[in-house]
Amino acid sequence: MRADGRPRVSTPSSPRPGEPGGPWLELADRVFTKRYVFYDQQIGVVLGDGEALVIDTRLTHRQGREILEDLRAITTDPVSIVVNTHWHNDHSFGNHVFRPTTIWGHRRTPPMLLERGPGSRTSASERMPGLAADLGEVVLDPPDRVFEETARIEVGGRRVELRYLGRGHTDTDIVIEVPDAAVLFAGDLLEAGATPYFGDGYPLDWPETASRVLELVRGPVVPGHGAVGDRAFVEDQLTAFLAIARLGREVHEGRITFEDAVAASPFDAKTSVEPLERTLAQLRGELG
Ligand SMILES: [Zn+2]
Repeated sequence: MRADGRPRVSTPSSPRPGEPGGPWLELADRVFTKRYVFYDQQIGVVLGDGEALVIDTRLTHRQGREILEDLRAITTDPVSIVVNTHWHNDHSFGNHVFRPTTIWGHRRTPPMLLERGPGSRTSASERMPGLAADLGEVVLDPPDRVFEETARIEVGGRRVELRYLGRGHTDTDIVIEVPDAAVLFAGDLLEAGATPYFGDGYPLDWPETASRVLELVRGPVVPGHGAVGDRAFVEDQLTAFLAIARLGREVHEGRITFEDAVAASPFDAKTSVEPLERTLAQLRGELG
């Protein structure tokens, strides 16, 4: 009810660019991102002359094809390059539908995808039985072009830089810079609106890696999931990663209890256990 006592009339309105389920958001000249409702995931696009570059391919072939269909709203040019920000299934399982496109990723992404992909397919199918059939048809198709620290590539005459900044969310995360547009795609090294996933993470390394992300910020920053952010968003994430690493160390050294650390975590209690447990595992030397 409104203050005047009349019932609120809810008019169904379509999500706007930048909102989950909304159309492509043009962040800068011919640099786009689209925020899909499923996993609140951001898929990036850079358009050059006559070619398109796509960042991440979603969880299934069906979802990958949806990207290709949605692309028609902004270009008729073919996708000539795909970049996987890291090996996780929601960023790479759609790869196959983009072939024969070149697919770029970090050097460790292909072996990790081939080694861990099958298990992650099984666990995703168990968690989401409605997607089991789609997951079952996924052809694991890792990047065919890889690099160790930096790769400078071109899409239709436009320069795009790929950088590995260190371990964080996984040990395969890369960021994508579009220098002429001052846009940075950070993959899951950053996540807006939810606790970042630490299950394959390196919590002691993540703050340093996030600080390197921060050094590259000159404009909009696109996280792997959630709303597009800015420098302040990256600073907030860095502060949270520093807090997790510090709390983990304090538990490890016996100065506070695990429960104290959960209570002091920058994330909500329910989602703080995994980050802290992962930190302790790394402090015990279990993550290599
Ligand atoms: Zn991920």
